[in-house]
Amino acid sequence: MTDKDTAAAAKSISLSKGRAFRIPITGLSHNGEGVGRFRNFTVFVPYAIPGDTADVRIEEVHKNYARGELAFVRSPSPHRVQPRCRLFYQCGGCQLQQVDYQAQLALKTKVVEDAVTRLGKLQGVEVKPCLGARDPWYYRNKVQFPVGTAQGRLVVGCYAKGTHDIVPADECFIQHQTNNRIMREARILAEKYNVRPYAEESGDGTLRHVLSRVAAKTGQAMVVFVTATREFPPGRKIADELMTRLPQVVGVFQNINPARTNVIMGPETRLLAGLESIEDTIHVGGLYEDLRFKISPQSFYQTNPDQTAILYREVLKYAELSYRETAIDVYSGIGAITLFLAQRALKAYGVEAVAEAVNDAKKNARLNRIENVEFLVGEAEKVLPQMRQGGVAPDLIVVDPPRKGCDPRVLRAMAEMRPKRIIYVSCNPATLARDLAGLRELGYRTLEVQPVDMFPMTGHIEAVAKLEPAPQQ
Ligand code: SAH
Repeated sequence: MTDKDTAAAAKSISLSKGRAFRIPITGLSHNGEGVGRFRNFTVFVPYAIPGDTADVRIEEVHKNYARGELAFVRSPSPHRVQPRCRLFYQCGGCQLQQVDYQAQLALKTKVVEDAVTRLGKLQGVEVKPCLGARDPWYYRNKVQFPVGTAQGRLVVGCYAKGTHDIVPADECFIQHQTNNRIMREARILAEKYNVRPYAEESGDGTLRHVLSRVAAKTGQAMVVFVTATREFPPGRKIADELMTRLPQVVGVFQNINPARTNVIMGPETRLLAGLESIEDTIHVGGLYEDLRFKISPQSFYQTNPDQTAILYREVLKYAELSYRETAIDVYSGIGAITLFLAQRALKAYGVEAVAEAVNDAKKNARLNRIENVEFLVGEAEKVLPQMRQGGVAPDLIVVDPPRKGCDPRVLRAMAEMRPKRIIYVSCNPATLARDLAGLRELGYRTLEVQPVDMFPMTGHIEAVAKLEPAPQQ
């Protein structure tokens, strides 16, 4: 053992598992956990918030960080409030209900600022205050609840944090009320028709999950029953009855997922009754016309309708289009951003890995009579270099990658195409900072970052960054 190792070992003994320490909480992590320091350790404490002094029971000790449970709030932050939901500490779906909403926004702004300056080591980047929601409750347009058994009855709810026990949830305060109604009716009907809940340990039973998605603007909703078995005899009756009881439900599906896995949906979805998709509209205003979108059960669609319009508005503001540009929207999903760009660009391309989403995108282009678009199926890290070799010369590139951020090949291909502007939409400040730093190495500087609160009450953080070619040194 070196001296350093001995010192590290001594530290980890003092901060040992099971012991409690009083720790001032000074920051918030990228996933909404409180962060404090104890000696040389960074300590992550779920449910603690900056400004708290907390008694923390240590649960894990690693080389230079530890995790602990919030045992007691010695002295609360002035921004602490009573969580609205009685399941808040059990469910794990929300991380910030104990913080007043304005303070949530300030914390999220700070997380983005810290990511950009400390992780990305970028200077001179303006991080704007996070754009908050008018109503931070009842916003989610999509719910997926597991089904199980509690006290001998079929229950629909959320997993209790860190377990696979299901806590019945009759009303989720961040869900659209239509989704809450659907979940209640779905449970009643499943019970009425003696549907057997799936049991994870044994693999017995039928019903695994119930999903619903509502189009906030039109009110249309779709429901998916995920079953372990292909046989689901009462499916049709349940579907009809659900549509009668809740006329806003226009389509009901069965998805078959026999696999012993955590992945919610299986590969096969079939319609039990009603329509194949729901339709929504997005209104960003200004120079842009509203767009209509058809959404099928498995396509990605932003989950907070009001804030999506605000996010897209920021993207379009940064885009500064004047009908002459070629634009590429990478990670385009069902083509939402692509179709807005196309309204004021000469040509817009969408690049997306999931074939169903690209099919939806093409249908959406036709639905909106937009012809100056082209959608390419494939992984961005393969398609974008091909586009570059094929001579596509975009003026603007928008990227909106999943949490893990962009593949280095995507960053390189983007920079090599020399667009006048890059707009990076991110749902993870850590990978955003990493990629902005990567782009700086490739000759693009970040001018401004605008966080948008797409997920009130949760620790999730969305942000849009605007980049331009850096002046030659
Ligand atoms: N911009 C869209 C969706 C962004 S979500 C909107 O606003 O609706 C991210 C999308 O990236 C998803 O549709 C996902 O299927 C897609 N994706 C994930 N990995 C990818 C990859 N390697 N190449 C291309 N697309 C990918």
